[in-house]
Amino acid sequence: MTIANDTERANLIEAGKRLAAVLKMLRAKVAPGVTTEELDDSAEQMIRDGGDEPCFLGYTPEGAQRPYPATLCVSINSEVVHGIPNESIKTLKEGDIVGLDLGLTHKGIIVDAAITVPVGVVSEETERLLIATEQALTEGIAQAVLGNHMGDISYAIQKEIERAGFKVVKELGGHGVGDMVHEEPFIPNFGRPGEGPVLLEGMVLALEPISTAGKAAVTLAPDGYTYRTKDGSLSAHFEHTILIEKNGPLVVTKL
Ligand code: MG
Repeated sequence: MTIANDTERANLIEAGKRLAAVLKMLRAKVAPGVTTEELDDSAEQMIRDGGDEPCFLGYTPEGAQRPYPATLCVSINSEVVHGIPNESIKTLKEGDIVGLDLGLTHKGIIVDAAITVPVGVVSEETERLLIATEQALTEGIAQAVLGNHMGDISYAIQKEIERAGFKVVKELGGHGVGDMVHEEPFIPNFGRPGEGPVLLEGMVLALEPISTAGKAAVTLAPDGYTYRTKDGSLSAHFEHTILIEKNGPLVVTKL
């Protein structure tokens, strides 16, 4: 989506605020003993109570064999993204990390964001993976300025993750958002400065670094959605929906 007028901009900002509030609620709920289904139910309830719609539920991404069956994606430890919280229901354990990826539709506008949250106390290495991946998102957002290229964002994300000694998942990345869950362009989490499309005023983008503590290779589970690291190493994921404006990027899903 490209935001062309003030009404769309106001709706996008409100949508982002609502999504951030749901993610904050979920983050506060994360604890040993909580199930993935409980998190999914809470997310759906809060979105519907606000008069909005979950946008992942019933959505069929390109290439998928069936619609996504839940509101939230919950990906634990070596699960990279798109873990289904209400099928093989899992219980969070002390020391896990859990990725929470969520989208909603408010007044016709779709926003998308994700966080990875430690369950209780995690190892120092795990902590570093979370910090580096969130920092990579910050670095990517800082490059989302008028006149820069998509490759400037991609490069900044890759550089930060690799500087910390981790790997970037190549098969998955950011995307345009706003009208649909996934829009052009695909925004890889690796690349070269100055390459790719030029960033224009009013573009709505979901930036989402996805990292691993081991090798970068991932596999898709038989459920058709859950990506896992091939070597079983931990993976982290942070995402924001941003709007590119004259004065710089506006992070609409800021927590
Ligand atoms: Mg996304």
